[in-house]
Amino acid sequence: MKNGGSNPPAPGNRCVEPPGGANCRPGGFVFPPPMAVILPLAAAGAAVGAWAYGTYEPNSRIFGPVVGRGRRDSRLAYLTFDDGPNPDATDRILETLATASVPAGFFMVGEHVRRFPDIARRVANAGHEIGNHTLRHRKLHFQGPRRIREELERTHEIIGATTGRTAKSFRAPHGYRNPFVTIAARRLGYAVFGWTFGVWDSDPGVSAEDIRRRVQRKLRPGAIVLLHDGDGYDPEGDRRRTAAALPGIIADAQAAGYTFRPLAELVPFQPRRS
Ligand SMILES: [Zn+2]
Repeated sequence: MKNGGSNPPAPGNRCVEPPGGANCRPGGFVFPPPMAVILPLAAAGAAVGAWAYGTYEPNSRIFGPVVGRGRRDSRLAYLTFDDGPNPDATDRILETLATASVPAGFFMVGEHVRRFPDIARRVANAGHEIGNHTLRHRKLHFQGPRRIREELERTHEIIGATTGRTAKSFRAPHGYRNPFVTIAARRLGYAVFGWTFGVWDSDPGVSAEDIRRRVQRKLRPGAIVLLHDGDGYDPEGDRRRTAAALPGIIADAQAAGYTFRPLAELVPFQPRRS
């Protein structure tokens, strides 16, 4: 902005430094106040940062309510298993849960339910929470409203037709969400779940003993524990190490005074919308 000659300095844009100061030049030119440049950039950066936080942080509430942890004032915890049903792991996990009288939540992939309907029915018959984890374990954050609706609604139908149960909860693959995910989940009356911690039990380099130790180390009051009874992309993926770790996980937690509770007790009442 030219500031010399007959043009008076614009209010708030005056050269207040002595001649020769960093922001003043002989001839009356005044650099724009740095904040005029920085503030819009900072705002844009903050918006991008907020969007990324809402997308990639599984417990972020930027795109709508999400349950990431229960109450922190008592030693209650919640087991969840994603990406099943799975022929080698889910039944074994059900046996362990039944022996220990421990409830859990299973976030199922629609295509896997279609492939292994008997296993899905056994999960339902055992009384565990059944949640929607999309049809094909697609990462949803770059998907549009139609595809997201299809992923959720097809899975909702498959779970209902297969198990006779109406899914009431949803967890996004990898926790990746966008506003269309929130809209589609709300239409189905879902509570959206994140998680308090995972232990990378889907990593092939992690042993059953590693999985057990990691859960023991990370467990804290109200924690929603993320484990995997299946593989989102391979219906027959090997999750036997998670199944093998589970008896120890439960024993360690109970020895430390924890009680595993049904995930449903964290689901706020949400009337279903058409
Ligand atoms: Zn998953």
